[in-house]
Amino acid sequence: MAHTKINPLEMAREQLRQAAERLKLDPSLHEKLKYPKRTLEVAIPVKMDDGTLRVFEGYRVQHNMDRGPAKGGIRFHPSVDIDEVTALAMWMTWKCAVVRLPYGGAKGGVICDPSKLSQGELERITRRYTSELKLIIGPEKDIPAPDVNTNASIMGWMMDTHSMNMGYSVPGVVTGKPLEVGGSRGRVDATGQGVAYVTEQVCLKLGKPLQGARVAVQGFGNVGSHAARCIHQMGGKVVAVSDVHGGIRNEDGLDIPRLIEQVSKTRSIIGFPGSRECNNEELLTGDCDILVPAALESQITAQNAAAIKASIIVEGANGPTTPEADVILEKRKVVLAPDILANAGGVTVSYFEWVQDIQSYFWEEDEIRSRLKTIMVNAFDEVWSMSQKHKVSLRSAAMMLGVARVAEAAKIRGLYP
Ligand code: GLU
Repeated sequence: MAHTKINPLEMAREQLRQAAERLKLDPSLHEKLKYPKRTLEVAIPVKMDDGTLRVFEGYRVQHNMDRGPAKGGIRFHPSVDIDEVTALAMWMTWKCAVVRLPYGGAKGGVICDPSKLSQGELERITRRYTSELKLIIGPEKDIPAPDVNTNASIMGWMMDTHSMNMGYSVPGVVTGKPLEVGGSRGRVDATGQGVAYVTEQVCLKLGKPLQGARVAVQGFGNVGSHAARCIHQMGGKVVAVSDVHGGIRNEDGLDIPRLIEQVSKTRSIIGFPGSRECNNEELLTGDCDILVPAALESQITAQNAAAIKASIIVEGANGPTTPEADVILEKRKVVLAPDILANAGGVTVSYFEWVQDIQSYFWEEDEIRSRLKTIMVNAFDEVWSMSQKHKVSLRSAAMMLGVARVAEAAKIRGLYP
């Protein structure tokens, strides 16, 4: 997948600057929010299967905790760097505030390529990384979760490692765990489900039916595959999807449940019956009504924003659109549901998981789904009203809501000492 190196931290700070300007935010609060509260950089020495020792580098950035403990995923990817992790932590702060979760924002990352690691190596990296994080994570401090290339089994190892270090089981230290060790029903598909709810809401507001709408989804991981499945279930016609191996198209609509079945066997979307291959640029700029970027940052840029045919974009990924591209899309009247709203379903069900762990009382799937829908629809309505009131894009409106809530908490708490 094309991944032009636009610095995500510059992007995140530019978005904050614009929100602060629109809110006429007290400059001292703006200054405070530009910086992460705490950053931990760790070396992760690991015995590889061939007997050699390799040192991996990892980070955990806690951007803000004014509204509660820090919350955010852990990413395992070769392109992880400190600026990316810091930007992702900032976005978590605003995201949690937009959906009114009692959390601040954090993110973690380890520079590694899981596709080149054995299960044993992956487990040893995860366990050593978790141990290094021991002092700063915990249910009342900072609660990691899955992100790009991390999943429920990795969260299970994190939960076990932290529990072993503490001497008792601490299920609430991470979310996105397997059900058997305190995970929540509905967490695996929560982000994709939330993306689908937001897509439905945008369509309703614009009076454009989702039924029959042509949808392209970039990325077929945990977010993209479930978003595609839910949108397909709601009657949307998914005409194109892509993954790390490339993209596929079928103008009549792809059979998403069957594609998911293929991916579970072959780990790739390529070669799906009835589809033709397309590249990443074609996926983004090809014919469709709705585009769901659900892969990495900086995919929609000044270079391709003018060529995008979709009139609706719903950001499943974090930071897929650069600020320059935002300007171009806004001029072209493309309606964009921003990441900090559109993909907040994941952290919302993470919050439910944490609440269930703390209470040791677990909810039924129906309850999770209906609570998730209520939170997503309410947040969407608040963002939509804000954008109408101030005549700004949905991204600006969501940023204004998120930043204002965090700034208000910071102001009430005051400056220590
Ligand atoms: N990694 C997800 C995100 O970017 C989920 C974070 C969480 O559940 O804490 O929102």
